[in-house]
Amino acid sequence: MDIKCPHCSRTVPAENINIQTSIAKCGSCNAVFGFADKVPGASAFGPSKRTVEMPSNYTVANEGADLVITRRWMNWKYVMMLVFCVFWDGFLVFWYSIAFSQGGPLAMKLFPVLHVAVGVFLTYSTLAGFLNRTKITLNTGELRIKHYPLPWPGNKVVPRPEIEQLFCEEIMHSNKNGTSYTYNLQAVKTGGGRLKLVSGMDKPEDALFLEQKIEGFLGITDRPVAGEMRPA
Ligand SMILES: [Zn+2]
Repeated sequence: MDIKCPHCSRTVPAENINIQTSIAKCGSCNAVFGFADKVPGASAFGPSKRTVEMPSNYTVANEGADLVITRRWMNWKYVMMLVFCVFWDGFLVFWYSIAFSQGGPLAMKLFPVLHVAVGVFLTYSTLAGFLNRTKITLNTGELRIKHYPLPWPGNKVVPRPEIEQLFCEEIMHSNKNGTSYTYNLQAVKTGGGRLKLVSGMDKPEDALFLEQKIEGFLGITDRPVAGEMRPA
């Protein structure tokens, strides 16, 4: 069974193909895609996942002529981050209370400046994780993306004609604690080039559901890239 990446049309190595979930990852361009509808007989190996079920952190609603998809950010990762922030920020408060109440040397006040910056960034990110949602509003004219209530980079308005295709990609993050993955939803622009629509999602299903929902509403059909060989 040969599965080709719908984005770059290279063959996907067997170890990147998950038969149970029918989700595959391209080793060349990191695109993530469902393949149950592309391979006749694939469903014989497991339940057909032609459509990705809506993850529990999503809501979908029709508001007039708009389709509104809302994705809640909260998950266990932010609980871990909260615990970390309590210790990190707590240590800094402790450090500075001593530095200022005991009249410590200037170096003691300047030393942790970088740690304060990290603490502010992590604490803000954690709060955003607990509170924020991403709202994707679709209509025939445009696609709007807004993160709220805490301000976060990545809000955008994309005119519908600029979107030719959508695809999901996997991003690998390696550090000393191991390897983790996040998933982005990208658009292929009509004039060429890519535009990142939503980034930092934790599960492939999060990104694939969004792709499927947006493509369905906008009437975009997953068409093979020129040169792609369809499995017989
Ligand atoms: Zn690819």
